[in-house]
Amino acid sequence: MTSLEIIEQNERKIVVKLKNVPLQYANALRRICLTGVPVFAIDDVVIIENSSVLADEGVAHRLAMTPIKTDLTRFVEASNCDCHSEVGCSRCRVMLMIDAGSADTTRTVTSAELTSEDEVVKPVSDKIPIIELAPNQKLKLEAYARLGRGTEHAKWNSATVSVLTETGNPEDHILTIETTGALTPAQIVSAGIEELAKRLDSFKQVISTLG
Ligand SMILES: [Zn+2]
Repeated sequence: MTSLEIIEQNERKIVVKLKNVPLQYANALRRICLTGVPVFAIDDVVIIENSSVLADEGVAHRLAMTPIKTDLTRFVEASNCDCHSEVGCSRCRVMLMIDAGSADTTRTVTSAELTSEDEVVKPVSDKIPIIELAPNQKLKLEAYARLGRGTEHAKWNSATVSVLTETGNPEDHILTIETTGALTPAQIVSAGIEELAKRLDSFKQVISTLG
């Protein structure tokens, strides 16, 4: 019988044994866990004021690569949202802001100053450096985070590590996953299994139409 046994689990990492799972399914699950589970990332930045030495695109890139805590229960991908709007709505995007005024000394603006309109969807850590501001330099912006998948852009990768190791039994495989922090490792595995089931299902439907 097919089963899944958790061998090791902590905040950043999970190790599971997939029993009686053919290698191609185990490998499909590994790939989905890496780039096929939706997570939030900043996708659009409106710079209101930037007198730092970093160009606007540089600021936007730093923000895009900041891992954002993800809640898959309340939000949907923009492509599946009823709003059908390019701007998005409260179900498919979250606004974050930085308003870092000038100080007397040079200082580092961190992700702690990237404040979110949502209680959950916000940077996974307060300690990620975003920009250095010298005296009299300012940074003010609005950033929009959306759900996306790593297959589209690496900023939406759900895991930093997703590897399969063999066990000696060809039907058993060990899957190791390390999260970016956007989701818990267990959430990645369960969302990954759901996604794999969905894809196999639609594949079966395609096969059946071929008769
Ligand atoms: Zn929407």
